[in-house]
Amino acid sequence: MCEMALAQVTGAVIAGMTGTVVTVEVDVAQGLPTVGLVGLADTSIGEARQRARCAVGNTGLRWPLGRVTIGLSPAHVRKHGTGLDLPIAIGVLAADDQIDVDRGTSFVIVGELGLDGQVRSIPGAITVACAAQQAGFDRIVVPADHVGECSRVPNLDVVGVRSLEEAVGVVAGDHTGIRDSNPGNRRRVRTEPDLADVVDQLEGRRALEIAAAGRHSLAMIGSPGVGKTLLAERLPGILPDLSASESVDVMSIHALAGGTDEVTGQDARPPFQAPHHSSSPAALLGSVSGGSVRPGAVSLAHRGVLFLDEAPEFPRNALEALRQPMESGAVSLHRAGWSGDVPADFQLIIAANPCPCGYRHAPRSLARHCDCPPTAVGSYARRISGPLLDRIDLRIRLQPVIGAKRGEASREVAARVIEARERALHRWGSTNAMVGPSTLLETALESDAQAIVDRYLETSGGMRSTQRLVKVAWTLADLGGSVRPGASHMREALELHQPLWDDAS
Ligand SMILES: [Zn+2]
Repeated sequence: MCEMALAQVTGAVIAGMTGTVVTVEVDVAQGLPTVGLVGLADTSIGEARQRARCAVGNTGLRWPLGRVTIGLSPAHVRKHGTGLDLPIAIGVLAADDQIDVDRGTSFVIVGELGLDGQVRSIPGAITVACAAQQAGFDRIVVPADHVGECSRVPNLDVVGVRSLEEAVGVVAGDHTGIRDSNPGNRRRVRTEPDLADVVDQLEGRRALEIAAAGRHSLAMIGSPGVGKTLLAERLPGILPDLSASESVDVMSIHALAGGTDEVTGQDARPPFQAPHHSSSPAALLGSVSGGSVRPGAVSLAHRGVLFLDEAPEFPRNALEALRQPMESGAVSLHRAGWSGDVPADFQLIIAANPCPCGYRHAPRSLARHCDCPPTAVGSYARRISGPLLDRIDLRIRLQPVIGAKRGEASREVAARVIEARERALHRWGSTNAMVGPSTLLETALESDAQAIVDRYLETSGGMRSTQRLVKVAWTLADLGGSVRPGASHMREALELHQPLWDDAS
């Protein structure tokens, strides 16, 4: 009779945007020494057999002599990546009776194995940790590098391991592994540039504060050197902290884009993405590789800020592609290997020069003269389409600064922003920018403000544009501590909603 041994451990892989728990079953039987793998695995998993085998040998353990069969299920999920190395090695050792797996805790184990038995980091660790928690597991064993990141997932015991030897100890229950060393001390790390660095530019500072308070999109036009980039980079610093669940969402997306280094600075603070105008569509919108999503800038800016400097220089189709995530908060990817929606709820800030040379309408003090023909200005302006501009709540023109007065620091501005956000949240459960049209229409303005709205709607504005004005007016009222917008708020909202290129042909 042939002797048979079977073991089962749980691993996880990334499928598209999310993690999926995978059962690894290992059967060791007498026969020719072979290693078979079943269950829709790609070449990276195929190589896991070799890595696991070398790691086991170099850890001083023994690879079984008989026929090893590794089954991965559910069979329909495409498995790729190196994260199953560790559960495969553990499964083989358990099936061969070399280790006793402690069944007191339900756990998932993931990690790449070096040939020397070291456990290496994997992309998307926090994403698989979320999947493990959602599937009802108590614990996840991860490469030591990912302990801090994965410990943000609630109700999950996260244990780090540096080597196969440590992993064997942890699953057998005789090693505690590496725990998160400093859980309380990670939040509220503000490393963003400070508004105190921005000299004068009062209009720009005011617009930035309004944008932050209402989560409004903002377009800034002005000559080089007026401070457009300086301001945009300081928006994240006056935004409220992300909630714990938003933070996990953001970290999951950044982890998919590659590793923990990028994630560390993002924790609990809104991300800031400033793609260059030469970025590829894949870099902007995202791509799919080997069955997992590689998020683009629009998704890396999820819950944060997407800044497009020199916006007219971006390819027209890239700018137009922003309209869909601006409406829905997600970008749809249809690629070979995966198709679906990737979160992309960003606050859009765009900056542009007033003309190709940059010095149209520049004051004499700049001593620069613009020779751009009107037709060139017109075609430059038209690179940002009407439908995209219609979706931008705040549009301002910035003039060069004359004085040298330092302004308030981000901390002071952020305090007002947080208060205004809380008023909006209390009123309609969302930011002003995101409030639905019916809720917005049902909420009364002061009568003098309503009169301005009615006149605007009759003369120039369409419905969409009018609603944007009213939303901005609400933010102004929230910042000013008023119960509802009055005429002065409406007038300021109108000033902040200028056509960017009114005289361009
Ligand atoms: Zn010019």
